[in-house]
Amino acid sequence: MKIIKMFIDGKWVDATNAQTRTIINPYNQEEIATAAEGDQTDAKAAIAAAKQTFDQGDWPNTPATERASIVRKIAELIERDKEELAELESLDTGKTVDESRWDMDDIAGVFRYYAEIGDKDGGEIIASPVPNSISKVVHEPVGVCGQITPWNYPLLQASWKLAPALVTGNTLVMKPSEITPLTTVKVFELMEEAGVPAGVANLVMGAGNTVGAELSTNVDVDLISFTGGIETGKKIMQAASVNVKKLALELGGKNPNVVFADADFETAVDQAMNAVFFHAGQICSAGTRLIVEESIHDKFVEALVERVKNIKIGSGFNEDTQMGPLISAEHLAKVESYVEAGKKEGAKLCIGGKRPEDPALQNGFFYLPTIFTDCTTDMSIVQDEAFGPIITVEKFQTEEEAVKLANDSIYGLAGGVWTNDIVKAERCVAKMRMGTVWINEFNLYFPHAPWGGFKQSGIGRELGKPGLEEYTETKHIMHNLNPEPINWFGN
Ligand code: NAD
Repeated sequence: MKIIKMFIDGKWVDATNAQTRTIINPYNQEEIATAAEGDQTDAKAAIAAAKQTFDQGDWPNTPATERASIVRKIAELIERDKEELAELESLDTGKTVDESRWDMDDIAGVFRYYAEIGDKDGGEIIASPVPNSISKVVHEPVGVCGQITPWNYPLLQASWKLAPALVTGNTLVMKPSEITPLTTVKVFELMEEAGVPAGVANLVMGAGNTVGAELSTNVDVDLISFTGGIETGKKIMQAASVNVKKLALELGGKNPNVVFADADFETAVDQAMNAVFFHAGQICSAGTRLIVEESIHDKFVEALVERVKNIKIGSGFNEDTQMGPLISAEHLAKVESYVEAGKKEGAKLCIGGKRPEDPALQNGFFYLPTIFTDCTTDMSIVQDEAFGPIITVEKFQTEEEAVKLANDSIYGLAGGVWTNDIVKAERCVAKMRMGTVWINEFNLYFPHAPWGGFKQSGIGRELGKPGLEEYTETKHIMHNLNPEPINWFGN
């Protein structure tokens, strides 16, 4: 099988140690690719290329309009190759091709958005206290950026980092998740085709504790942008202190979805399913903590269970499949262990809680959509991010109680409120401690809207204008047009 190479200093290369990793399809464990498996040596080479390119100065000094047209061209190439990219993403992650197509539209949209806003910042003149002087504030690239992505939305997460870093004139080294590198590799080919100069964007595949650790500790990396789990985020934060790197962390979530009795019932049931079972619950913003007003709780759960029974599980390449497998055997075991913990802690299993029995699915990492009721906030199934197709249901009687339950988490990524009382909705979301709150909506992201977490869900923002600002340093330039001696120390 052809070895998928890394991209360092404008060249497609094998790992220095000649190691490779087999990439498998989570639907049936078949080998789909063999990828170069780099280590610290390759990461160092990529960082050196990115540093040399940045210091040499052509890219950071390229007019922003030119960088923006390259970023726009990347969007066009993603649109051109959408079908190939979508199929590759589904092969690698198991998600349905329809969902991957949707991702590719979003990804092209992210590159387009940053191409649109990336050349609009000409700096700002500010009031200076000194007569005959000019004070201006400009934004400059940070330098060499280390970018580390997870496996659940491989290319979408990469796009949130690549587009703003490129348009602002940084150089970068990206490390995709070692188990899902395929679409990221393909987009590096497209970036080369779009005219991103050699050395600007470098790609190193490999494990977290080798390539990822090198990116986090290397003193030539000025910024580290990481998306992944909370424990990895803590390690990276610690490592990044070595040279006080700028840090952007997009970590996990355990997101509340609050349903009041006055919500549109059918819509709230439908969206409570969508909030979790897309991509088998492997979404950082999944609304896994369903918090339902007591007066409708039983009816709501009953309706939800009826709908969940009909979710079609299978290959992401079958047109009628609605939910694919989990990513790996290891992850399946983690999800199973949370379900076992939920049962032991006294939550009531209403549906699911096991692997499907269909013989056709036995080679894949499938798990049935699962609902637990009678949940309380002290249960690990309610507090921890299982990152699988599991809903826990809690009850509330008052608005205050609903908000308290929603906030009872170390996470603060996202949350939703369903009600037809707009004043109540606004009152609730004002008190909810999360980076994104949806009213009568769930899981909707778009490039203009900043994304990131309160509390332990992270530091910094991606998307929107804040997602661009992460990749710039702010510089104040004060120019005295009429310099005179101060004579503080006498003549
Ligand atoms: P993970 O933390 O295991 O791995 C993420 C990346 O970090 C991978 O590329 C991995 O190789 C690398 N890594 C692992 N150890 C490292 C180390 N010591 N130093 C540097 N890099 C290291 O996460 P995952 O299992 O790939 O992804 C799932 C997690 O990602 C979930 O917690 C999910 O909520 C989170 N996530 C968050 C967002 C968001 O926007 N907040 C989006 C997607 C996923």
